[in-house]
Order: sequence, then C-alpha cells, then structure tokens
Amino acid sequence: MAVWDATNAMVWKLLHSSVELLPNWCYIPSGCRAGPGRIGVASGSADQGELQDMSSISEDQVLAQLRTVNDPELHKDIITLGMVKGVSIDGGAVRVQVQLTTPACPLKDQIRGDIDRAVKTIPGVATVEVEWSAEVRSSRPGSAQLPGVKNVVAVGAGKGGVGKSTAAVLLAYGLQRMGAKVGLMDADVYGPSIPTMTGVEGSVPTVRNEMMVPPEAGGVKIMSIGFMVDRSKALIWRGPMTHGVIKQFLENVEWGELDYLIVDLPPGTGDVPLSLAQSIPMTGAVIVCTPQDIALMDATRAVKMYEQLNVPCLGVIENMSYYLCPSCGHRDELFDHGGAAAAAKELGVPFLGEIPLNANVRAFSDEGTPEKQFTDSPDHVTEAIAAVVSTTAGQISVMSEKQAEAPTLSVE
Ligand code: ADP
Repeated sequence: MAVWDATNAMVWKLLHSSVELLPNWCYIPSGCRAGPGRIGVASGSADQGELQDMSSISEDQVLAQLRTVNDPELHKDIITLGMVKGVSIDGGAVRVQVQLTTPACPLKDQIRGDIDRAVKTIPGVATVEVEWSAEVRSSRPGSAQLPGVKNVVAVGAGKGGVGKSTAAVLLAYGLQRMGAKVGLMDADVYGPSIPTMTGVEGSVPTVRNEMMVPPEAGGVKIMSIGFMVDRSKALIWRGPMTHGVIKQFLENVEWGELDYLIVDLPPGTGDVPLSLAQSIPMTGAVIVCTPQDIALMDATRAVKMYEQLNVPCLGVIENMSYYLCPSCGHRDELFDHGGAAAAAKELGVPFLGEIPLNANVRAFSDEGTPEKQFTDSPDHVTEAIAAVVSTTAGQISVMSEKQAEAPTLSVE
C-alpha cells in the first residue's frame, strides 16, 4: 500500500507540474569511444612438428590482413574500429576474436566471409575461425542524463494505427533476444498500449530511493503512464504536463545500464517528440508507416520534423506491407506495397524493412506475449521481423559511430 501511495504521489506530482522546457541540449561527442584497445595474440601449443608452420604465419601478417577487412556498414577496417580483440595461431589454424557493435549485427556472415578470405591469402593458413562477442557502443558517451543508457531510440509515426507501438515492442524484444539490455518507455501518453502488448497491464512500479523501478517483462524494463492512470478515463494533456511526464520518465526512473532504450512516441508531430528531443540526446528516430500514399505523406512529415529537431532519422519501417493467405499462400497487397522504401529513398534515409500483415502479430500483441512474435508465427513473418530488428540495430551502430565522431550537435 505504501508503495502504491508513493507511486501515486509521484504521478500526481508529474501530472501537475508545470515544467519549463529544458535549455537546448548540447552533445559533445567523445574521443572516449572505446578505441582499438589491446589485441591479445596467442600462439598455439608448440609441438616440434608444427614449428615450421607456426613460424611461417606471424601475427603481424594476420593483423595486416585484418586491416583490409571493412565493416560493411561502418566503412572502416575492423582493426581501426577496435573490433578485433584477439588473434591466436596454432599451426595453420588461425582464430580471430571479433567484438561486434551489436549482438543483432545484420552483417555477421559477410564479415566472417571477408575475414576468412583475407586471412587465407597468407601462405600456410589452413583454417580461419571467428569467435564472436558483442558490445553495444554508446551514441551518447559522457551524457549527463541517463549515463548508463548507451542508445535512446524513438519510434514515431505520422499517424495512429500504423503499428508504431507494435514495432516498438518488436524492436525492444528482438534486441533483448539477441542478448542486449533493453528498456521500453511508453511515451504515447494519449494511448498507452505497451503494458497490454507486453503482458504487464496492472503492474505498478515500485519506488526505491525516490526513483520509480520499472516493472520487467521478459527481460525488458518497461515504464508507461498506463501503469498509473485509468486508461478508460479521458485525460486532457496540456503541453507542460506531457513534458513533465517525459522528464520524470527520464530522470526519476531507475533505468540502470541499458544498451537500448526504445521510446514509443505518440503519433504525429506534437509536444512529446519535442520534449524528448529537448530533454535528452537521442541516437535517432525510427519512423513506422503503412505503404499507401496518405500514410506516406504523414511519415514524410514525421521524418522532416525529426530533422528539424536535429534527431537523426535511423530509417523507415513499412508495416502491414503485404498479406500471405495461410491457407492457399496467395499474396495480397491490401495497403499497396513498397511505398515506404520509395519514400525512404527520396528522403535519403535508410529503409529498415517490411513487416507483413498477419493475424498472429495482432493476437500476440493483444494477449501480451511478445516473445511469441519471434517463434510462433509463420516463417515469412518471423524472418521479416528478425530482419527489421537486425537492420535497425545496424543503423543504430552506424549512427553511434557517426555521433561519436561528430564535433558537436545542438538543438537551436
Ligand atoms: P499505433 O501504435 O501506430 O497506433 P499499434 O501498434 O497499436 O499502432 O497497432 C494497431 C493495431 O494493429 C493493433 O491491434 C496491432 O496489434 C495491429 N497490428 C499492427 N501491426 C500489425 C501487423 N503487421 N499485422 C497484424 N496486425 C498488426
């Protein structure tokens, strides 16, 4: 009861606080991005019979070849990017430890193939084995707000009903399944659906040291205004109130250490994206839309709004892209198809992939079982979702790299 009262008191405070907009944020990137680091080099066990082979392959040769391998998205070689963490040579067998910038790396196979080809050009190399690890890099190193959160990714849409919250849930749980630490912040204050979609409706955040502790579902930390207000009652939101909620969700929630904080924004170009952009340095925004012209016009407006707010657009997802009949396999493009890819090209932003219309996607959202989205749907659905998650993760890495290099970003 005491916890409930404390939470209510905090909610009351945040709903009724008239908060001034924060001053312009300024982002000073780092030279402190993890550099190449020390590369551990181990030689294989010395059996006299193997000495000839071992001495013929040197670590310098291997490292020189690895310098010719570029990360296909970051367009730099994997040594310069600090991705090679160790090399060991045992006779003709070379083993390379590679640390990816995201556990959901979409280009792992390509990197593996490029390493294999490059290292095998060294005379005497018989096999090349790649050992993977991943450490998500921060796009906001040194940030005073949420210092433990490496990337803040907004999910927005030009209009409601296109599957924005669904996409936010898929991204959060998709990244979590790959091994990342993820939080999901429901900033859609006008229609908070994340508690239902993630199966934590009715949960109440506990309070610890005057901070709200977000409930966890399936390993994802979740915070939503839906935990605190009666969803059946109409709430009239004034601009300062929404800003108050966003500020409290950023400052008074114990998010801890996260690789990704996914923020589900309300549709359109209103107060909340503005508050978020003014409150915290963001990695970027993902825009969700359906393929028909009218939705694309709204999505284009959303992309331009984020540009104005100096929030980079990570790309566009086409949802409800097509429908495959589960009985006969017939494909229907109910809302047209391919419009988002064309719009992304025109706007010069990445296309992050398409999610088909499917009854399971709707059902798993309604019943709050997000994990099933990755396992219990037809293959064309789970594969499409996995591709969207890894492409988005790749674009977040690209943006982190760019932001770590950029001199200064500021919102005027
Ligand atoms: P928004 O956040 O844009 O308002 P939602 O994510 O709440 O949209 O989705 C609206 C409705 O459409 C929900 O019932 C959701 O389950 C359903 N939905 C979203 N994407 C799909 C899809 N690809 N296939 C089937 N139903 C979907």
